[in-house]
Amino acid sequence: MATYTAPINDMMFLFEKLRDNKDYNDLEKYKGVKADLAKDILEQAAKLTENLILPLAKSGDENPTKLENGIVITPPGYKEAYKKFIEDGWISLSCDPKYGGQGMPKTISAFFDEMLSSASLSFKLYSELSIGAYNCILHHGTDSIKKKYLPNMVKGIWSGTMCLTEPVCGTDLGLLKTKATEQPDGTFKLTGQKIFITSGDHDLTENIIHLVLARAADAPAGTKGISLFLVPKIKIKEDGSLGSRNGVSTGSIESKMGIKGSATCVLNFDEAVGYMIGLKNKGLSSMFTMMNLERIVVGIQGLGISEIAYQNALNYSKERKQGKSNNSKSTNGADAIIDHADIRRSLLNMKSIIEGERALSFWLAQQTEVSLHHNDNKIKQQASDLVSLMTPVVKSLFTDMGMEITSDAIQIFGGYGYTSDQGIERLYRDNRITPIYEGTNSVQAIDLVFRKLINNNGNIIGNYIKLIKEDIEKNKKNGEIKLFTETLSQYLKILIDFTDWIEKGIKSSKDDVSAACNDYLKVLGLVAVGYSWLKVLDISYKEIKNNKEFFEDKIETAKFFFDRVLPRIDTHYKSGISGSKNIMNFKFN
Ligand SMILES: Cc1cc2nc3c(=O)[nH]c(=O)nc-3n(C[C@H](O)[C@H](O)[C@H](O)COP(=O)(O)OP(=O)(O)OC[C@H]3O[C@@H](n4cnc5c(N)ncnc54)[C@H](O)[C@@H]3O)c2cc1C
Repeated sequence: MATYTAPINDMMFLFEKLRDNKDYNDLEKYKGVKADLAKDILEQAAKLTENLILPLAKSGDENPTKLENGIVITPPGYKEAYKKFIEDGWISLSCDPKYGGQGMPKTISAFFDEMLSSASLSFKLYSELSIGAYNCILHHGTDSIKKKYLPNMVKGIWSGTMCLTEPVCGTDLGLLKTKATEQPDGTFKLTGQKIFITSGDHDLTENIIHLVLARAADAPAGTKGISLFLVPKIKIKEDGSLGSRNGVSTGSIESKMGIKGSATCVLNFDEAVGYMIGLKNKGLSSMFTMMNLERIVVGIQGLGISEIAYQNALNYSKERKQGKSNNSKSTNGADAIIDHADIRRSLLNMKSIIEGERALSFWLAQQTEVSLHHNDNKIKQQASDLVSLMTPVVKSLFTDMGMEITSDAIQIFGGYGYTSDQGIERLYRDNRITPIYEGTNSVQAIDLVFRKLINNNGNIIGNYIKLIKEDIEKNKKNGEIKLFTETLSQYLKILIDFTDWIEKGIKSSKDDVSAACNDYLKVLGLVAVGYSWLKVLDISYKEIKNNKEFFEDKIETAKFFFDRVLPRIDTHYKSGISGSKNIMNFKFN
């Protein structure tokens, strides 16, 4: 079985030192959240994920969730673990104290999300969608809906889902068919089928609150006619207690390549009673509150799975002896494979990507909090724009890198990675869904290029580039990091050129731009991770005397990233701007 130790040292380093965001530091709401408290929470979270949740990964993989007599049964150990999970208040970590939450910032909850993803993504998903649904209701529900549903969701005794996908509509939600018919009392009756619904049904909670996209009777076609409805599995009486069963049933659960402990359900809605959330025909934009935050968390899933894959590959490479290394001192037999240059390269590749991503994710968590809670609307909007720019990047880059890293981890294990005993191939299988759900990575790249770079709020990408330029300028003469600044500056120039190329072609050469989206996302993502490393380097050189081993490790890891990962930008740029003529004219037989 794969082993796991939560990387608390790195998380605490970011929490304490990567704090150059004045707007975040100014937030009154989080003034009391000091390093001691953060450390205490992370230590408790580490105990929980390492001891209680990690074993569930194997149990869920070997005993997938099953449907028996209309009841969805989770894998052995899930029920007991979930009970402890909610009793200890983990679901409520970042929820509003008004509804029973602990009100912790995303700068802490994102670390917890990472730990859970490392330990068992399948188990995590049962609470993840609840938090997503909670956020959506919090932002768009009426006061009476919030009062009725949120406290039990925050306690974790009711869970949540996100019901978008139907047999004929995944990416293109404009095609959705589920109907909502208004009743004289203002409620709606929903009829239709949703597929692939994560945690759509299970035996962990007494009720499930579905957030469902559907089309009201007189709604226009396409995405402009979609509304959002809250549909409880069990109806709630006026006094808040559980009533009779609503018209929602589980048709089947999917058999799938990974996350086998997670119930992925076909849900049939048969005149199910629902309540409209937000405005009629504006359901998609309300649902986006949930989806945008979710997309960042899916990126963090990729990061968490990458971390556990790296840890196991590193441990194995120290134990496994094969062949003599170039500088072998061994006189009797083989060296550990970690002594071979290529294995060291592969391990450093993983480590430099993971730690850079974690720093970027921490920066994004601060921006998200500013976008939600700052008093100054202008600052709030600026942060919100940066979050919207970085959301598709984090979702796609981290999950794609998760595929590379889990595959490389299998490679380091050799045949023992491909076979199932060590639990490494499961990480690859579990991660494989992350580039698909919450909007496929290709669709994220299209969203980034066609909707996020420049929008009604102005030149968002221009503002982000300006931010990096200012830091580069500030550090141009800064002793040790000068060389890193020069390298980043060179790749920033490519990002600028690529952005100009996109802007020129976005109206006149749409196919060229569409075919370049994935490459562009990678360029922006790698620059963003490089920029995060630059911030880490600045701190590392300043603080090296205080903790030589830790900061030397950071500096050497950053060197690898700048020498061997950032240059991927050259290829992405060249490939991206090569146009689409050949692609579009090619005759597939
Ligand atoms: C395990 C699992 C859990 C899930 N959980 C949920 C859930 O909780 N709730 C929910 O509602 N859904 C859920 N989904 C559904 C998931 O979000 C969809 O599978 C995903 O959005 C893609 O839709 P699709 O499968 O219909 O693929 P399609 O939309 O058919 O896409 C097929 C391919 O075409 C590409 N493509 C599509 N449109 C374009 C375009 N315009 N330009 C370029 N390329 C395009 C896609 O990138 C993809 O590669 C889940 C799916 C799985 C497998």
